[in-house]
Amino acid sequence: MNEFKFKKKYGQNFIRDENLINKIVNSAEISKESLVIEIGPGMGALTTKILDKCKHGIIYEIDTELKDFLEQKLKKYDNYELIFQDFLTADIKEITKKYNYKELLIVANLPYYITTPIIKKIIEEDILANKIVIMIQKEVADRFSAKVNTKDYSSLTVFLNYHYEIKKLFNVSKNMFYPKPDVDSSVILMSKKTEKENIKDINVFNKFVKDCFKYKRKNLRNNLKEYDLEKIELILKKYNLSLNSRAENLPLSVFIEISNSISI
Ligand code: SAM
Repeated sequence: MNEFKFKKKYGQNFIRDENLINKIVNSAEISKESLVIEIGPGMGALTTKILDKCKHGIIYEIDTELKDFLEQKLKKYDNYELIFQDFLTADIKEITKKYNYKELLIVANLPYYITTPIIKKIIEEDILANKIVIMIQKEVADRFSAKVNTKDYSSLTVFLNYHYEIKKLFNVSKNMFYPKPDVDSSVILMSKKTEKENIKDINVFNKFVKDCFKYKRKNLRNNLKEYDLEKIELILKKYNLSLNSRAENLPLSVFIEISNSISI
């Protein structure tokens, strides 16, 4: 692959460091009962280690120029499906139906340009892997794992928190990649919550959370003009919050309580 031209448009920054590869794969605690989806194998740095440990691997790569190289590199394995397709257009529910497995894992060094669309897809299509170990841009990791009352706390943080426990595992210097990206990275672990608070109507919840964050600098009174503000205020008061608070001040449980109270 000497002549391979790295494609910036596909976010191709490949890992060069063996310790880092092991650290990422070990964080996923893959077993012989795991079905693992990898997004963007590149030259297969993580892929072989994943396939060594898992029952089956489903590997999505968008760049068909990597086909010959990857097929050669993975030829000793028979427990994988290598699909040259944009992950964003893949029907994951359909493909996973073919397999028997105890847990679904997603492991990836994600192409940074589509980190958020990939996470949104996983949540909106209800793919809900048991565990997700991904390397993403450090700033994005901070947003995903943001705590309430911080500026990084966003609607996506709230949606993620509903489904997953999110933990930042470690930071990774940009020097660990070739070609070297402009930004540092972090590896995060997202573990599916086993006990979730009950949401009466997920559509009402989704809309309410999005409306609360509509204009980040505005307070709830201004963002929620079309709602029954008196009802909302009564709930907020219980938690020492008010209509002057901003969306970033509300923990997940308060979003749920209010959205349940306005669901029919
Ligand atoms: N896993 C390899 C590694 O860690 O060295 C490569 C990681 S690189 C950051 C991202 C990979 O995702 C590239 O191989 C790129 O071609 C692939 N990719 C980019 N967009 C994709 C998409 N929409 N669907 C599937 N793969 C994609």
